[in-house]
Amino acid sequence: MTQELVPVLSQADIHERVKGLAERISDDYGPTGLIILGVLKGAFVFLADLVREISIPVRIEFIQVASYGAGMETSGEVKLIKGLEINLENRHVLVVEDIIDSGLTIAYLLDHLEKMRPKSVRVCTLIDKKGRREVDIPIDYVGHSVDSGFLVGYGLDYNEKYRGLPGVYHLKQ
Ligand code: 5GP
Ligand code: MG
Repeated sequence: MTQELVPVLSQADIHERVKGLAERISDDYGPTGLIILGVLKGAFVFLADLVREISIPVRIEFIQVASYGAGMETSGEVKLIKGLEINLENRHVLVVEDIIDSGLTIAYLLDHLEKMRPKSVRVCTLIDKKGRREVDIPIDYVGHSVDSGFLVGYGLDYNEKYRGLPGVYHLKQ
């Protein structure tokens, strides 16, 4: 089966969007800073670039969930693979995702985090894939919106492949 990679965001596009998001985040939170909570594995590249453009103090933590298995469709079931080692009570938390599709993963995470009584929880995603949203969740910071398509590169994988590509591509089969 042949697969084709169609460019969606170049390295320069991404850099522009990351800088814009980092500026807004820095302005919104101010000098008291925040906890950046990266969702593994997909968000690691975006998070690494984002934190280097943010000009206020950040603490970086990671959480890992899985829903996809090896395919391109969500299984609808979200599992926590790596939980948090710190207390979020009374802290400002920004969840950083690579891409939001059905919204099930982020809805599960927000529910999980709320139980820890943080002062605030917001969501930042590089890509908002709007076409197949199943749960309505507020997304505070969006780098780029698409309607549909399976995307890879810049942290995003297909069966653990393509994470290292510097841009984002639509994987067409
Ligand atoms: P959701 O629960 O919103 O349907 O999906 C969220 C997770 O599914 C994302 O964090 C990501 O890991 C994965 N995902 C959703 N859409 C895509 C996509 O187009 N490409 C890749 N590589 N992963 C995706
Ligand atoms: Mg993910």
